[in-house]
Amino acid sequence: MASDAFLARAIRTVPDFPKPGIQFKDVTPLLGNVDLLRRAADLLAAPYQAQGVTKVIGIESRGFILGTMLADRLEAGFVPVRKQGKLPYTVVRTEYALEYGTDVIEMHVDAVASDDVILIHDDVIATGGTAAACYDLVKGTGAKVAGYAFLLELAFLSGRHRLPEGVPCHVAIVT
Ligand code: AMP
Repeated sequence: MASDAFLARAIRTVPDFPKPGIQFKDVTPLLGNVDLLRRAADLLAAPYQAQGVTKVIGIESRGFILGTMLADRLEAGFVPVRKQGKLPYTVVRTEYALEYGTDVIEMHVDAVASDDVILIHDDVIATGGTAAACYDLVKGTGAKVAGYAFLLELAFLSGRHRLPEGVPCHVAIVT
């Protein structure tokens, strides 16, 4: 999928947020425009239309927004994956390495069944650590991962190379 120039123009780069040195990709101008919002959801859903996806996983928190739109387009359910301690019921979890220290993501224990076919979505793929950890979480359930869909990829961080080999990855905007 080629990087989409219309969508790319609606991304605002905010320097030094949330800390010095980070060029934060603010997707809210895109989300605020109904035509661009629909365009993003249509583009990301298209490669997965015939893949039998039964559930879309959205990664906290900006992955929830387009994640639910993708679920609707693919006639699939939606599953939130959240940071530690946010989900109310019994969870399964995966710990993964950050640049400094570790982080944990969690999913409800009954959210994904072994016969589910999963699409994993987040707004931005940076280092790819979170998306790779999410794959581990899903594999623990026995479900199949049809692929990944990201709104934006920070190509200079090579996050795509941390994703499991052979799993499709579609991105609407590459910067
Ligand atoms: P990753 O490094 O790929 O594990 O990214 C971790 C999370 O932080 C993802 O959910 C991204 O959405 C978010 N993120 C990382 N870097 C940026 C950035 N420069 N701008 C916006 N979001 C980011």
